[in-house]
Amino acid sequence: MRAVDILAKKRDGQALSNAEIDWFIEQYTAGDLPDYQAAALLMAICIRGMSREEIVQLTLAMANSGTVLRLRDILGGYAVDKHSSGGVGDKTSLVVMPLVAACGVPVAKMSGRGLGFSGGTLDKLEAIAGYDVNLSTERFEALAKQNGIVLSGQTHDLAPADGKLYALRDVTATVPSLPLIASSIMSKKIAAGADGIVLDVKVGEGAFMTNLDDARQLAQLMVDIGVDAGRDMIAVISDMNQPLGEAVGNALEVAEAIAVMRGEGPADFREHCIELAGYMLRLAGQGEKWQDAAEARALLERNLDDGQALAKFRLLAEAQGGDVRMIDDPAKLPQASIVETVNAAQDGYIEHVSALTVAQAAFELGAGREKKGDPIDLAVGVRVHVKVGDHVKAGAPLVTIYANDEARLERCRTMLGDAVRYSQSPVDALPLFYDVIYGQ
Ligand code: URA
Repeated sequence: MRAVDILAKKRDGQALSNAEIDWFIEQYTAGDLPDYQAAALLMAICIRGMSREEIVQLTLAMANSGTVLRLRDILGGYAVDKHSSGGVGDKTSLVVMPLVAACGVPVAKMSGRGLGFSGGTLDKLEAIAGYDVNLSTERFEALAKQNGIVLSGQTHDLAPADGKLYALRDVTATVPSLPLIASSIMSKKIAAGADGIVLDVKVGEGAFMTNLDDARQLAQLMVDIGVDAGRDMIAVISDMNQPLGEAVGNALEVAEAIAVMRGEGPADFREHCIELAGYMLRLAGQGEKWQDAAEARALLERNLDDGQALAKFRLLAEAQGGDVRMIDDPAKLPQASIVETVNAAQDGYIEHVSALTVAQAAFELGAGREKKGDPIDLAVGVRVHVKVGDHVKAGAPLVTIYANDEARLERCRTMLGDAVRYSQSPVDALPLFYDVIYGQ
């Protein structure tokens, strides 16, 4: 086979065969094709698109470019995983994984770091001093077996083709292509080895997908890929126009996750966790257990309220070297030196809380990284005390800024000045979820 023939085919809008896709990905991963040919293919895919068959084959080829785990063998039964497409204040995995584990369903998850204004679970976990996110495959498997819960970074041999191609997409303006996004996400999920996967596709100004049609299309495509690859799939489409919960910033989000696992915390974030965990139980129950949503909800609420989920989280952190005193007393988590609350300037109904502006403000404080490997400040961030639809009185707390630098605080304060809009007439609350897509 010749790369140039494959490029010509895709340039002219023809479908690539399975053999051609496999060959190209194998050769590129092995370093036997240059970046410029891979970049040309990415651009051709971006412009010409791919059929469902091609996308599935591309996903499988990328998944098979490294180790493909079989979590079922490691966990000793049906394995369930979740993935979020990324949002502002999205600390859901911190709660949902221990919560599901507390219900008796073992979980073993590989997560990512934050980039740009989108946070990452690994950074949040590192707010717990000592927490080791760099586990070898052997240690990952051993902890999963021992504790029924493990949460680490991706091993280097997980879908390496995606790692190489993603870096190339970043610099060739080929990130926003549905076939490329869907195959990139799903290659890693398939290689991570779960039988059932719940996808949380965010939509709104603080998400990758800013309109519902695009989010639905991406969700359906990823569900289709998963089903064709033999996985049970559920995708929810959830709101990301305003931040999820109150906290945006690594240690602040860990503290909020702990609050929810103590039966406290913001209602929207608690509800989001219960819904997602419910779908995970539904998959794990394999058509028998937990099919009744009300029954699953009762179990999940009990495990949040009686400390069972928190006990699992503590076990997880301890096993990975984390300082559990920070979990027992979240005041011991990294703390910012400057805390300033901005109050409402007027009475009114909250019409808009910009997830994007809040994320940019937290980034400005140092909570996020511009490029891979940049250091971040785990202590800083923003807490937003209002939700769309709330009625506030002038002087009520609107946002609290946690900063470690006066100049950054000043810039953040200015940015947040535009984050909240008021209305004089009542405003409907935003829905938490817009749609659910099943692919079992
Ligand atoms: N996340 C991924 O892993 N890949 C994409 O292409 C986009 C988001």
